Amino acid sequence: MLLGIAIGDAYGAGYEFIEKNGLSLRNEFNFTKYQSHPNPKHNHQSGMYTDDTQMSIGVCELLLSDKEFNSQNLADNFVNCYKRDQIVGYSSRFQDFLDSINSGSEMLERLNPSSKRNGAAMRSVPLGLIEDKKMLMDYATVNAKLTHNTPQAIASSISVALLSNLYLNDKESYINVFDYVLPFVQDFPIFHSYLQEVSKLTKDSDLSILLNKDNPKLGVPCNAMKTTGAVMYILNNYQVLSDVLKESVLLGGDTDSVASISLGIAAMNLSLEELPEFCLQDLTNHKFGKEYLIELGRKLDGKFGMLNL
Ligand SMILES: [Mg+2]
Repeated sequence: MLLGIAIGDAYGAGYEFIEKNGLSLRNEFNFTKYQSHPNPKHNHQSGMYTDDTQMSIGVCELLLSDKEFNSQNLADNFVNCYKRDQIVGYSSRFQDFLDSINSGSEMLERLNPSSKRNGAAMRSVPLGLIEDKKMLMDYATVNAKLTHNTPQAIASSISVALLSNLYLNDKESYINVFDYVLPFVQDFPIFHSYLQEVSKLTKDSDLSILLNKDNPKLGVPCNAMKTTGAVMYILNNYQVLSDVLKESVLLGGDTDSVASISLGIAAMNLSLEELPEFCLQDLTNHKFGKEYLIELGRKLDGKFGMLNL
Protein backbone atom coordinates (compact mmCIF):
# COMPACT_ATOMS: atom_id res chain seq x y z
CA MET A 1 0.00 0.00 0.00
CA LEU A 2 2.57 2.59 1.08
CA LEU A 3 4.92 1.79 -1.76
CA GLY A 4 1.98 1.95 -4.16
CA ILE A 5 1.07 5.39 -2.80
CA ALA A 6 4.68 6.59 -3.10
CA ILE A 7 5.32 5.14 -6.56
CA GLY A 8 2.09 6.58 -8.00
CA ASP A 9 2.88 9.93 -6.38
CA ALA A 10 6.53 10.06 -7.50
CA TYR A 11 5.75 8.95 -11.04
CA GLY A 12 2.72 11.23 -11.39
CA ALA A 13 4.60 14.21 -9.94
CA GLY A 14 6.72 14.39 -13.10
CA TYR A 15 3.60 15.20 -15.11
CA GLU A 16 1.46 17.24 -12.71
CA PHE A 17 -0.47 19.85 -14.73
CA ILE A 18 2.25 19.92 -17.38
CA GLU A 19 -0.49 20.99 -19.80
CA LYS A 20 -0.43 24.32 -17.98
CA ASN A 21 3.24 24.62 -18.95
CA GLY A 22 2.30 24.37 -22.61
CA LEU A 23 3.50 20.77 -22.93
CA SER A 24 1.67 17.80 -24.39
CA LEU A 25 1.27 15.02 -21.84
CA ARG A 26 1.17 12.36 -24.56
CA ASN A 27 4.42 13.65 -26.09
CA GLU A 28 6.22 13.87 -22.76
CA PHE A 29 4.92 10.56 -21.39
CA ASN A 30 7.64 7.99 -20.73
CA PHE A 31 6.88 4.73 -18.95
CA THR A 32 10.49 3.58 -18.67
CA LYS A 33 11.66 5.96 -15.95
CA TYR A 34 10.67 8.56 -13.38
CA GLN A 35 10.64 12.07 -14.78
CA SER A 36 11.46 15.19 -12.85
CA HIS A 37 8.82 17.85 -13.38
CA PRO A 38 9.78 19.94 -16.44
CA ASN A 39 8.97 23.24 -14.72
CA PRO A 40 12.09 24.16 -12.69
CA LYS A 41 9.89 26.11 -10.27
CA HIS A 42 8.55 22.79 -9.00
CA ASN A 43 12.06 21.85 -7.94
CA HIS A 44 10.93 18.24 -8.24
CA GLN A 45 13.52 15.51 -8.61
CA SER A 46 12.82 12.25 -10.42
CA GLY A 47 11.65 9.44 -8.16
CA MET A 48 10.75 11.85 -5.35
CA TYR A 49 7.29 11.67 -3.84
CA THR A 50 5.24 14.69 -2.73
CA ASP A 51 2.61 15.79 -0.20
CA ASP A 52 0.29 12.87 -0.95
CA THR A 53 2.79 10.35 0.42
CA GLN A 54 4.11 12.53 3.21
CA MET A 55 0.65 13.16 4.61
CA SER A 56 -0.25 9.47 4.23
CA ILE A 57 2.83 8.72 6.35
CA GLY A 58 1.45 11.13 8.95
CA VAL A 59 -1.86 9.22 8.97
CA CYS A 60 -0.07 5.85 9.24
CA GLU A 61 2.06 7.03 12.15
CA LEU A 62 -1.04 8.14 14.04
CA LEU A 63 -2.70 4.77 13.34
CA LEU A 64 0.39 3.06 14.73
CA SER A 65 0.56 5.17 17.87
CA ASP A 66 -1.56 4.75 20.97
CA LYS A 67 -2.96 8.25 20.52
CA GLU A 68 -6.56 9.04 19.69
CA PHE A 69 -7.34 9.65 16.01
CA ASN A 70 -8.41 13.27 16.42
CA SER A 71 -7.68 16.51 14.62
CA GLN A 72 -5.11 17.69 17.18
CA ASN A 73 -2.98 14.55 16.93
CA LEU A 74 -3.36 14.40 13.17
CA ALA A 75 -2.35 18.05 12.80
CA ASP A 76 0.69 17.41 15.03
CA ASN A 77 1.71 14.53 12.76
CA PHE A 78 1.31 16.52 9.54
CA VAL A 79 3.41 19.38 10.91
CA ASN A 80 6.02 16.99 12.28
CA CYS A 81 6.28 15.03 9.01
CA TYR A 82 6.84 18.23 7.07
CA LYS A 83 9.30 19.80 9.51
CA ARG A 84 11.53 16.73 9.63
CA ASP A 85 11.55 16.29 5.83
CA GLN A 86 10.80 19.51 3.95
CA ILE A 87 9.87 18.08 0.58
CA VAL A 88 8.29 19.92 -2.34
CA GLY A 89 4.90 19.26 -3.91
CA TYR A 90 2.52 20.99 -1.50
CA SER A 91 0.52 23.81 -3.05
CA SER A 92 2.61 26.93 -2.61
CA ARG A 93 0.01 28.49 -0.31
CA PHE A 94 -0.09 25.44 1.95
CA GLN A 95 3.68 25.10 1.93
CA ASP A 96 4.03 28.77 2.97
CA PHE A 97 1.52 28.07 5.70
CA LEU A 98 3.47 25.01 6.91
CA ASP A 99 6.66 27.07 6.88
CA SER A 100 4.97 29.70 9.05
CA ILE A 101 3.76 27.38 11.82
CA ASN A 102 5.47 25.16 14.37
CA SER A 103 2.80 22.93 15.84
CA GLY A 104 -0.46 21.15 15.19
CA SER A 105 -2.23 23.58 17.53
CA GLU A 106 -1.08 26.47 15.40
CA MET A 107 -2.34 24.67 12.32
CA LEU A 108 -5.77 24.22 13.91
CA GLU A 109 -5.91 27.82 15.07
CA ARG A 110 -4.90 29.47 11.85
CA LEU A 111 -6.20 27.24 9.05
CA ASN A 112 -9.53 27.97 7.40
CA PRO A 113 -10.63 24.46 6.38
CA SER A 114 -13.11 25.44 3.67
CA SER A 115 -11.38 23.86 0.69
CA LYS A 116 -13.07 21.55 -1.81
CA ARG A 117 -9.71 20.39 -3.12
CA ASN A 118 -8.47 16.81 -2.95
CA GLY A 119 -6.06 17.15 -0.03
CA ALA A 120 -8.15 14.96 2.26
CA ALA A 121 -8.71 12.17 -0.28
CA MET A 122 -5.02 11.96 -1.12
CA ARG A 123 -4.09 10.86 2.40
CA SER A 124 -7.06 8.55 3.10
CA VAL A 125 -5.79 5.30 1.59
CA PRO A 126 -4.23 4.09 4.89
CA LEU A 127 -7.62 4.46 6.60
CA GLY A 128 -8.72 1.34 4.71
CA LEU A 129 -6.87 -0.58 7.42
CA ILE A 130 -9.70 0.17 9.85
CA GLU A 131 -11.94 -2.87 9.82
CA ASP A 132 -14.99 -1.38 11.54
CA LYS A 133 -16.88 0.58 8.87
CA LYS A 134 -18.32 3.14 11.26
CA MET A 135 -14.92 3.82 12.73
CA LEU A 136 -13.40 3.99 9.25
CA MET A 137 -15.95 6.61 8.23
CA ASP A 138 -15.43 8.57 11.45
CA TYR A 139 -11.66 8.60 10.94
CA ALA A 140 -12.06 9.61 7.28
CA THR A 141 -14.32 12.46 8.42
CA VAL A 142 -11.83 13.64 11.06
CA ASN A 143 -9.13 13.49 8.41
CA ALA A 144 -11.13 15.61 5.97
CA LYS A 145 -12.48 18.16 8.44
CA LEU A 146 -9.03 19.13 9.66
CA THR A 147 -8.15 20.85 6.39
CA HIS A 148 -11.17 20.37 4.08
CA ASN A 149 -14.42 20.72 6.01
CA THR A 150 -16.73 20.61 2.99
CA PRO A 151 -19.26 17.92 2.00
CA GLN A 152 -17.39 16.91 -1.16
CA ALA A 153 -14.05 16.63 0.57
CA ILE A 154 -15.53 14.60 3.44
CA ALA A 155 -17.29 12.29 0.96
CA SER A 156 -14.05 11.90 -0.99
CA SER A 157 -12.11 10.94 2.12
CA ILE A 158 -14.78 8.38 3.07
CA SER A 159 -14.89 6.95 -0.47
CA VAL A 160 -11.13 6.50 -0.74
CA ALA A 161 -10.91 4.84 2.70
CA LEU A 162 -13.76 2.47 1.80
CA LEU A 163 -12.20 1.54 -1.53
CA SER A 164 -8.93 0.87 0.18
CA ASN A 165 -10.66 -1.40 2.68
CA LEU A 166 -12.51 -3.18 -0.12
CA TYR A 167 -9.30 -3.95 -1.99
CA LEU A 168 -7.64 -5.10 1.19
CA ASN A 169 -10.38 -7.57 1.99
CA ASP A 170 -12.71 -8.85 -0.63
CA LYS A 171 -12.45 -7.07 -3.90
CA GLU A 172 -13.45 -10.23 -5.73
CA SER A 173 -16.97 -10.07 -4.36
CA TYR A 174 -17.62 -6.70 -6.02
CA ILE A 175 -17.49 -6.46 -9.77
CA ASN A 176 -18.19 -2.75 -9.71
CA VAL A 177 -16.48 -0.45 -7.19
CA PHE A 178 -19.39 1.97 -7.46
CA ASP A 179 -21.88 -0.63 -6.16
CA TYR A 180 -19.79 -0.77 -3.04
CA VAL A 181 -19.19 2.93 -2.38
CA LEU A 182 -22.46 4.56 -3.46
CA PRO A 183 -24.63 3.40 -0.54
CA PHE A 184 -22.16 4.97 1.90
CA VAL A 185 -22.26 8.44 0.33
CA GLN A 186 -26.01 8.91 0.00
CA ASP A 187 -25.90 11.79 2.48
CA PHE A 188 -23.82 13.73 -0.05
CA PRO A 189 -26.29 14.13 -2.96
CA ILE A 190 -24.10 16.09 -5.40
CA PHE A 191 -21.19 13.74 -4.86
CA HIS A 192 -23.47 10.70 -5.08
CA SER A 193 -25.06 11.69 -8.37
CA TYR A 194 -21.67 12.60 -9.83
CA LEU A 195 -20.33 9.13 -9.02
CA GLN A 196 -23.43 7.59 -10.59
CA GLU A 197 -22.53 9.36 -13.83
CA VAL A 198 -18.89 8.28 -13.59
CA SER A 199 -19.96 4.67 -13.03
CA LYS A 200 -21.26 4.56 -16.62
CA LEU A 201 -17.84 5.29 -18.11
CA THR A 202 -15.90 2.62 -19.93
CA LYS A 203 -12.46 2.74 -21.54
CA ASP A 204 -14.07 3.92 -24.77
CA SER A 205 -16.17 6.70 -23.27
CA ASP A 206 -15.70 10.42 -23.61
CA LEU A 207 -14.01 11.08 -20.25
CA SER A 208 -14.63 14.82 -20.09
CA ILE A 209 -16.79 14.65 -16.94
CA LEU A 210 -13.64 13.60 -15.07
CA LEU A 211 -11.68 16.56 -16.35
CA ASN A 212 -11.49 20.33 -16.04
CA LYS A 213 -14.95 21.69 -16.83
CA ASP A 214 -13.78 24.70 -18.81
CA ASN A 215 -10.88 23.05 -20.57
CA PRO A 216 -10.75 19.21 -20.53
CA LYS A 217 -7.21 19.38 -21.94
CA LEU A 218 -6.06 20.50 -18.49
CA GLY A 219 -6.91 17.06 -17.09
CA VAL A 220 -8.29 16.13 -13.68
CA PRO A 221 -8.54 19.20 -11.43
CA CYS A 222 -7.46 19.29 -7.78
CA ASN A 223 -11.13 19.04 -6.85
CA ALA A 224 -12.05 16.33 -4.29
CA MET A 225 -15.08 15.03 -6.18
CA LYS A 226 -13.39 14.90 -9.56
CA THR A 227 -10.32 13.21 -8.11
CA THR A 228 -12.46 10.52 -6.49
CA GLY A 229 -14.34 10.09 -9.78
CA ALA A 230 -11.07 9.66 -11.68
CA VAL A 231 -9.75 7.12 -9.17
CA MET A 232 -12.97 5.10 -9.31
CA TYR A 233 -13.08 5.20 -13.10
CA ILE A 234 -9.51 3.84 -13.16
CA LEU A 235 -10.15 1.11 -10.59
CA ASN A 236 -13.34 0.08 -12.35
CA ASN A 237 -11.75 -0.22 -15.76
CA TYR A 238 -8.17 -1.35 -15.13
CA GLN A 239 -7.06 -4.31 -13.08
CA VAL A 240 -3.37 -4.67 -13.97
CA LEU A 241 -1.13 -2.49 -11.77
CA SER A 242 0.96 -1.05 -14.60
CA ASP A 243 -2.26 -0.04 -16.41
CA VAL A 244 -3.60 1.57 -13.23
CA LEU A 245 -0.45 3.70 -12.97
CA LYS A 246 -0.21 4.54 -16.66
CA GLU A 247 -3.86 5.38 -17.21
CA SER A 248 -4.08 7.44 -14.00
CA VAL A 249 -1.30 9.67 -15.28
CA LEU A 250 -2.65 9.83 -18.83
CA LEU A 251 -5.84 11.46 -17.53
CA GLY A 252 -3.61 14.49 -16.96
CA GLY A 253 -4.00 17.34 -14.49
CA ASP A 254 -3.40 16.35 -10.88
CA THR A 255 -1.54 13.23 -11.95
CA ASP A 256 0.35 12.61 -8.71
CA SER A 257 -2.77 12.54 -6.53
CA VAL A 258 -4.85 10.37 -8.88
CA ALA A 259 -1.96 7.93 -9.47
CA SER A 260 -1.01 7.86 -5.79
CA ILE A 261 -4.54 7.05 -4.59
CA SER A 262 -5.29 4.59 -7.40
CA LEU A 263 -2.03 2.69 -7.12
CA GLY A 264 -2.07 2.71 -3.32
CA ILE A 265 -5.50 1.08 -3.38
CA ALA A 266 -4.85 -1.30 -6.29
CA ALA A 267 -1.54 -2.44 -4.74
CA MET A 268 -3.31 -3.54 -1.56
CA ASN A 269 -3.54 -7.11 -2.75
CA LEU A 270 -1.18 -7.22 -5.69
CA SER A 271 2.56 -7.62 -5.96
CA LEU A 272 4.46 -4.55 -7.10
CA GLU A 273 6.50 -6.87 -9.32
CA GLU A 274 3.81 -6.31 -11.93
CA LEU A 275 5.14 -2.78 -12.37
CA PRO A 276 8.15 -1.86 -14.55
CA GLU A 277 11.40 -2.36 -12.64
CA PHE A 278 12.25 1.34 -12.37
CA CYS A 279 9.19 1.97 -10.20
CA LEU A 280 10.59 0.32 -7.09
CA GLN A 281 14.26 0.51 -7.99
CA ASP A 282 14.41 4.26 -8.57
CA LEU A 283 11.92 5.38 -5.94
CA THR A 284 13.47 7.90 -3.55
CA ASN A 285 15.42 6.27 -0.76
CA HIS A 286 16.11 9.34 1.33
CA LYS A 287 15.65 9.10 5.10
CA PHE A 288 11.86 8.81 4.75
CA GLY A 289 11.92 7.08 1.37
CA LYS A 290 11.64 3.48 0.22
CA GLU A 291 13.26 1.70 3.18
CA TYR A 292 11.35 3.85 5.66
CA LEU A 293 8.07 3.04 3.91
CA ILE A 294 8.83 -0.68 3.91
CA GLU A 295 9.55 -0.56 7.63
CA LEU A 296 6.40 1.46 8.31
CA GLY A 297 4.47 -1.14 6.30
CA ARG A 298 5.94 -3.90 8.47
CA LYS A 299 4.77 -2.11 11.60
CA LEU A 300 1.27 -1.65 10.16
CA ASP A 301 1.25 -5.33 9.26
CA GLY A 302 2.15 -6.13 12.86
CA LYS A 303 -0.66 -3.99 14.24
CA PHE A 304 -3.38 -4.58 11.66
CA GLY A 305 -2.34 -8.08 10.58
CA MET A 306 -2.43 -7.56 6.84
CA LEU A 307 -0.07 -8.30 4.01
CA ASN A 308 1.35 -6.14 1.24
CA LEU A 309 1.52 -2.98 3.29
MG1 LIG B 1 1.10 15.95 -4.64
